[in-house]
Amino acid sequence: MDIKYVSTTCPYCGTGCGFNLVVRNGRVVDTAHWQRAPVNGGKLCPKGRYAHEFINSPDRLTRPLIKKDGQFVEATWDEAYDLIAQKFKSYKPEEMACLSSARVSNEENYLMQKFARSVLKTPHIDHCARLCHASTVAGLAIVFGSGAMTNSIGDIAESKCLFIIGSNTFEQHPLIGRSIIRAKENGGKVIYADPRDTATAKQADLYMPFTSGTDVAVLNGLMQEIIRNGWEDKEFIEKRTKDFDKMKEVVMKEDYSLENVSKISGIPVESLKTAAEWIAKAEVASLIYSMGITQHTVGVDNVKSTANLMMLTGNMGKAGGGVNPLRGQNNVQGACDMGCLPNVYTGYQKVTEEAAQKKFASAWCCGIAEGKVGYTVTEMINVLADEPGKLKAMYIMGENPMLSDPDLHHVEEAFGNLEFLVVQDIFMSETAELADVVLPASCYAEKDGTQTNTERRVQRLRKAQEPPGEAKEDWKIICELAGRMGMGDQFAFADPEEVFNEIAAVTPSYHGMNYARLDPDGLHWPCPSIDHPGTPILHTEKFATPDGLGIFSPIEWKPPAEVPDAEYPFVLTTGRIIWQWHTGTMTRRSWSLEKEAPTGWIEINPEDAEQLGIKDGELVTASTRRGSVDVPAKVTGEIKKGVMFMPFHYKECAANVLTNNALDPIAKIPEFKACAVKVEKI
Ligand code: SF4
Repeated sequence: MDIKYVSTTCPYCGTGCGFNLVVRNGRVVDTAHWQRAPVNGGKLCPKGRYAHEFINSPDRLTRPLIKKDGQFVEATWDEAYDLIAQKFKSYKPEEMACLSSARVSNEENYLMQKFARSVLKTPHIDHCARLCHASTVAGLAIVFGSGAMTNSIGDIAESKCLFIIGSNTFEQHPLIGRSIIRAKENGGKVIYADPRDTATAKQADLYMPFTSGTDVAVLNGLMQEIIRNGWEDKEFIEKRTKDFDKMKEVVMKEDYSLENVSKISGIPVESLKTAAEWIAKAEVASLIYSMGITQHTVGVDNVKSTANLMMLTGNMGKAGGGVNPLRGQNNVQGACDMGCLPNVYTGYQKVTEEAAQKKFASAWCCGIAEGKVGYTVTEMINVLADEPGKLKAMYIMGENPMLSDPDLHHVEEAFGNLEFLVVQDIFMSETAELADVVLPASCYAEKDGTQTNTERRVQRLRKAQEPPGEAKEDWKIICELAGRMGMGDQFAFADPEEVFNEIAAVTPSYHGMNYARLDPDGLHWPCPSIDHPGTPILHTEKFATPDGLGIFSPIEWKPPAEVPDAEYPFVLTTGRIIWQWHTGTMTRRSWSLEKEAPTGWIEINPEDAEQLGIKDGELVTASTRRGSVDVPAKVTGEIKKGVMFMPFHYKECAANVLTNNALDPIAKIPEFKACAVKVEKI
């Protein structure tokens, strides 16, 4: 029997844990610990442990499919490529849009944005970071000049005070939870602010349940208390930042007195006082956040406000400190780095800058899309629904907007207006069902490449088995399709390593990387030269802004776009659970995970449940202004009174039928974390 172990990187969350895939006779049969894995030292959470189970599912797509008379029929690759090329050539560039994916490798993301900009010549390229951390990319880029996690995962253990807000770290990034435990063992304190009494709350020294959508009020209140007591880091503010007085003028308003903030957020004044003192007086403090901060119509404001607090207390540019957004998917950082955003090429080089346009046209040896900012994912859906005929064709790789995007009835209406849809995926997703052509792709275990985790560490993916049937690696599909459209020379890559070398050549923050250097520990960007060791901590000497100074922002609190009223009296917030992953395409085909949480629920506080006459386990109807779903009630004291929570993984009780597609004006991220809901007994 032929058995081999192939070390690779987890396909689920942004932690980027490494493990071995156990391959028997050419087929992946298990995962095994990889003791020297750089991020996790061999440990895994349940999703990583069972990350082999979906790979050889009988549901895998194995042949191209073309829809004829409303039914999919199997086709050859030549037939599929010919149809796609003929259709794409029939549209004007601006009538087409592409969605890339945080699920695929850096190389594949790079090729997808190159395909959009150089083959289709459309500026409309985006991916699902729009739905999770677009506010981080925009907000931190404004403040620090770089929109990414400032410190590293191991470094969290050095912190003496961890302020976690809007991140259920122990459930969503469990192996980062290990660094938090280490910080606690080293005497660090943990403050946790979240509407749910989660697994992370159980680890906190101070838990502050608060009403979803009141983050800026809480952060301004903490800063007012720090300034009133003279606890701010005056030297850091003086030497490393600017616009402090503008920010101070806002946070010192009576609106943000602890008494007022307590009324807005529901956090007791004493807790706010304690949190302010712990953060300000700690030898070094770190702030960790995730989508509780970003998924709001004020997502960018929330992010800038977290940066205000860490600059105020001088906790930037040093070990154990920083602003640490935990990215959701395995390669959402990489998909952003690779330029799968409508406003930037790789490494955040702006599409509107002439020098960048010339550089990419020259590197790719062809004409490219006009240098203007294209549509975001959320704008694509709105344009499709509201301005029929403006966008006519889409090419979607590894994304499932029919379950992941807000206000699903609106999304369905939008896709109904498309003339031609190509979906490239590993399973027949809810979005693939709407496609004209479905291309069978490869999963993480069937390709070589790289991905970039939440701490900016670029790591290797390694191929363990061949894709099933006639399925192909995504990078190969894109290159072959480009060839079919007459751009074969620009996409003549023999393997992913050649693609990576092109990425390194055109991306300053990846200049010093190659596959040999990434083995085995990876490198943190920026890594500008071949002898550079990488950068685990950003902004140690100066920020990445033009003058090197961090920029304080004056930020007023604004309530969510939709607040409870007599008709819809509760706040609905949504999120993930440890057993499932996003739209469930992989985890719901992993029996060890699916059996733990086989369907969704809505969490209701016992006092609210009593008022509504609802018992634990009963089926209820949850409704918002956008739709209704029937879902089992989970009556639990772990959710704050007045707030309800639903996981968004389940198509049979899809939380995103209910969510609001109101957008942050800068990041265009939807407000998944707060809308008004009512719940009724069936
Ligand atoms: Fe995978 Fe994230 Fe779990 Fe690590 S913590 S094993 S990266 S899902």
